[in-house]
Amino acid sequence: MKIVIDAGHGYTTPGKQSPDGMKEYDFNRETASFTKQYLERTDAITVHFVHEDGRDVPLSERTRKAHALGADLYVSIHANAAGTGNWHEANGIETYVYTSKPKESLSLAEKVQHDLAKATQLKNRGVKTANFQVLRETKCPAILIECGFMTNQDEAALLKTKAYRKICGESIAKSILSHYKLHKELPSTILYKVQIGAFSEKKNAEALVKKLAKDGYEAIITTQQ
Ligand SMILES: [Zn+2]
Repeated sequence: MKIVIDAGHGYTTPGKQSPDGMKEYDFNRETASFTKQYLERTDAITVHFVHEDGRDVPLSERTRKAHALGADLYVSIHANAAGTGNWHEANGIETYVYTSKPKESLSLAEKVQHDLAKATQLKNRGVKTANFQVLRETKCPAILIECGFMTNQDEAALLKTKAYRKICGESIAKSILSHYKLHKELPSTILYKVQIGAFSEKKNAEALVKKLAKDGYEAIITTQQ
């Protein structure tokens, strides 16, 4: 499965920052990296970025790249803003799909939204629709996630931290894995035991444990019928 992740905007995009100067792109790119790292633990997934640190890649170029790659999913990661550049009380998490509410995008968005609100313990503002270019111009399922408001003073403080970015990035990845049933089956832990004796009389087993203890070995007695 090919997943395209789009960290919204770029370092140079005007206006996209918190009132105290955190660049939205800084949050978006690091969170996108946590999402990528987590997803790529699963062999069935490759992740491609369509953003670049050196410039704000135009949206049409981002969606064109997704087509060229034959992407199966497009995920755009953002931090939200409200008001006119000052602190604002709007808060919480929202996820967007295109206005036509494509079925696949909508069900994934609902999963991502639910899980992210739970993981961050922020207000769940629900799944919304918007005529955003990256949702409209993508042929594969596409969602856009707003991971909290950088214009809210409490949430801006969170958005600046690596820990919060990791929580968001990994929550998004886990929701995708769960939605597409791509959870890697981890092998169960195997315990290798060493056996050096088997006795029908318990006192003989105890005598051996005592002897081993004297020699510096930690032995336990297990039973088998
Ligand atoms: Zn944004």
